Amino acid sequence: MSTRWIYSFDALDAATEKCGGDWDEVRGLLGGKGANLADMSRLDVAVPPGFTITSEACNAYLDVGERLPDGLVAEIESALRDVEAETGKTLGDPVNPLLVSCRSGAKFSMPGMMDTVLNIGLNDEVTDGMASIFGDRHFALDSYRRLIQMFSTVVMGIPEAPFEDALLAARVARDVTSDSDLTESDLEPIVERFKKIFRNHTGRDFPSDPMEQLTMAVAAVFRSWNGKRAFAYRKASGIPNDLGTAVNVQTMVFGNLGSDSATGVAVSRSATTGAPAIEGDFLMNAQGEDVVAGIRQTNTIDDLRVEMPELFDELEQAAKMLERHYRDMQDIEFTIENGKLWLLQTRDGKRTAQSAVRIAVDLVSDGILTKDEALERVTPEQVEFFLHPQFSAPAKDSAVDDGRLLTKGLNVSPGAAVGIAVFDADLAEKWSSERDEALILVRPETKPDDVHGMLASAGVLTSSGGRTSHAALVARQFGKPAVVGAKEIVLDLEARTMTVGAATINEGDWISIDGTTGEVFVGEIETKLPDIEDAWLMSLLAWADDVRDLDVWTNADYPADAERALKFGANGIGLCRTEHMFFATDRLPIMQRMIMANHDSDRNEALEELLPLQRSDFAGLFRAMDNKRVIIRLLDPPLHEFLPNVDDLVRNATDLKIRLMNAGDLAEVNRLVREIEETETILSKVEALHESNPMLGLRGVRLGILIPELPEMQVRALFEATAMVLDEGGTPKPGIMVPLISHAAELTPIKEIVDRVALEVLGERSDEVDWQFGTMIETPRAAVTAAEIAGVAEFFSFGTNDLTQMTFGISRDDAEKAFLLGYLELGILAANPFNTLDRDGVGALVRSAVEAGRATRPNIHVGICGEHGGDPRSIALCDEMGLDYVSCSPLRVPVARLAAAQAVLNRPGRPDPDAGLHMDPAKGVVADAG
Ligand code: ADP
Ligand code: MG
Ligand code: MG
Repeated sequence: MSTRWIYSFDALDAATEKCGGDWDEVRGLLGGKGANLADMSRLDVAVPPGFTITSEACNAYLDVGERLPDGLVAEIESALRDVEAETGKTLGDPVNPLLVSCRSGAKFSMPGMMDTVLNIGLNDEVTDGMASIFGDRHFALDSYRRLIQMFSTVVMGIPEAPFEDALLAARVARDVTSDSDLTESDLEPIVERFKKIFRNHTGRDFPSDPMEQLTMAVAAVFRSWNGKRAFAYRKASGIPNDLGTAVNVQTMVFGNLGSDSATGVAVSRSATTGAPAIEGDFLMNAQGEDVVAGIRQTNTIDDLRVEMPELFDELEQAAKMLERHYRDMQDIEFTIENGKLWLLQTRDGKRTAQSAVRIAVDLVSDGILTKDEALERVTPEQVEFFLHPQFSAPAKDSAVDDGRLLTKGLNVSPGAAVGIAVFDADLAEKWSSERDEALILVRPETKPDDVHGMLASAGVLTSSGGRTSHAALVARQFGKPAVVGAKEIVLDLEARTMTVGAATINEGDWISIDGTTGEVFVGEIETKLPDIEDAWLMSLLAWADDVRDLDVWTNADYPADAERALKFGANGIGLCRTEHMFFATDRLPIMQRMIMANHDSDRNEALEELLPLQRSDFAGLFRAMDNKRVIIRLLDPPLHEFLPNVDDLVRNATDLKIRLMNAGDLAEVNRLVREIEETETILSKVEALHESNPMLGLRGVRLGILIPELPEMQVRALFEATAMVLDEGGTPKPGIMVPLISHAAELTPIKEIVDRVALEVLGERSDEVDWQFGTMIETPRAAVTAAEIAGVAEFFSFGTNDLTQMTFGISRDDAEKAFLLGYLELGILAANPFNTLDRDGVGALVRSAVEAGRATRPNIHVGICGEHGGDPRSIALCDEMGLDYVSCSPLRVPVARLAAAQAVLNRPGRPDPDAGLHMDPAKGVVADAG
């Protein structure tokens, strides 16, 4: 049997049968537009009759070198006879002519990307016929010139310009601004002129045979699938290239028949805010492409309510009905011909993040969706939108138009930030207290001792560094928009300028950065803050909480972070990094003294000074997260990170020596000698601490075993804080977490300290307080020996960053610079394992460690901390692996709440609640879907 190429709008059942009842496949075969036109034809709305040529025909045409497949023309002719029978009109008949449009329509909507030809069937005779039937020669000529113009540009590839020039000349001659104001006598010569342009470009006459027009137009629509525009759109939106487009041939209805005719587009709810009122544009006395093309100034749909109130009501009713039928906001094309409303297209509308959330929630209130379905209608990225300021779209567009886009770097921490450029952290801190302007800290890169400057700034920009650079991590942690590694920027810290090519920006000049896109602009761009307290978002996230199994915790080092995370819905703190507390300017010197100490007494003195500071840090966290787990990690980084770097010290020493040579009086000589000695002592300590591979060196638990006074101080501070908060009437639930172990035996000495100090500080209360001792699992050996480790540890927190580095045996920063991106391009890796947890390797280690841990200690609590905890795909894997919680930065908490719910909803074996629901027209009006 030969392939059937055509399904009339009445033949949805046959198409469905061919597709085995699968609506998704019907959309593939007929295209989204065609499938919906056929579907709509069964509903209570007027759709001009027509038929759909399948995407299979398109693929057949493209496969055999652009030749219409056998049997297609015959099928078109027979389908046309049916349309003629239904409409009582005949193609090419001057007395009662049928005109059709020829419209592209692929499985996924690609608005405006492919071609459409209107008014097929007109030639000189039919135009005369139309003029007398409608008693309107202006209309007939206007339709005819449109056909020649569209046919020329779309089918023959003739440029628009000569046609537009001819129209412009006519408008100028008549002194009008709109094509619709041209008169019959203007249009007559325009039609002739258009035909001539056609002849000049093609060497033949404009085809007057309607059937020839139609088959040529069909072939052109097929070809437009491979047009440049369509290709680029598919690439950008991830639509496969082998789908092909269907073609819809549809009876023309006319919006250009005078003052009771119109054409327009409408969405059933606001695409910007989601407000449940129909929104759109229309034009009186025009044809569809005028509205979409943006050539004419359109009116808003509210004017239609005034001008044609009954038709407005009808449109509104239709929009509501279609929305129920398709169970989503609809984007509708309509035409009003002599006071009758026709619908020409409907599809699920595109929308902003804000609108997506509101629509999903409102559709539940309207009884159209279930809560579970609503949760699947919003993407985690859309939730993220609510958490960061954004450039206002028009302001950004005009900045781009004005050439104010300076450069691009890595988009490491989302959101927009605007401020005056400041080139060092101390000055940033100073300016932030003295000046009113917001600041952008611009640095070659940032170091831990720049943190105070980052905190003082609205955003961070660096010229080097990668996605895991310090700047990037800290910026994400604090929710500061950041762009790093903007290589084109040259920072001159002497001249206090930054240059990009020819552009120079002085310290104190305004710049704007977009951490969502990585763009850097000169000058101020207006921003707006989306609203996290948005009522609809709050409802949606509350539903997510009912569905998800994973707890969502946060990584927070300061009470302010903890409070913010709590507001975003965090159930606890999965990771407090104590090292950040030691970088604060008032504490770093004490920490350095501790490290430099040559005698136990000096070290203990420094530790004693640190203890009360730590105690109040911890108490603050316990208060903020009352009655919720707060896991505090013992000091992790290598000590050299707290000391100045070698180059700075060497430079300092050299400077001092030069000054010594020129020193005048004895006092100065003495002072300089002392300073030189101090610097050289530090230098020798730094050199002694030097490791060729610090990430695999003296850090984590190893530090605590070598210097037991250090964990003891931290643990004592923690339990003292616990006692303090208990006394205040709070309920602290501390967790003590040991970093970087690879052997169960490493836990034993630390556990001894913890047990002893708990008893010393809390006494009998130690049993009453719900505190836990646990460990990071971030080395492969720890994962492999999890059974043994669980004998000591009451919880596991997988440090998936380190675990990924060590499992792959690659260092992230080096890898991303050198080969990781290449691996992704070559397809060796499907995703960056540092962004998305690697299922088969790292994931397998986690999975087996969880099983082994639970075998030893059935109620062991397991989760992940680190950046994967905020990544939706990794969260789905954590759900699948049966973890208890994920812990992520405060700003990712709402994203993780939704992602954790979606993970449950997408578990294999759960039926897709949406499947097949479009198929039954009766379902469209069933109200109690929820
Ligand atoms: P696109 O996918 O670019 O929107 P369409 O095929 O939807 O292309 O057509 C473009 C415009 O032409 C739309 O505004 C549509 O309403 C109008 N149009 C298409 N077919 C007809 C028809 N049979 N009668 C009247 N207007 C039509
Ligand atoms: Mg359209
Ligand atoms: Mg680690």
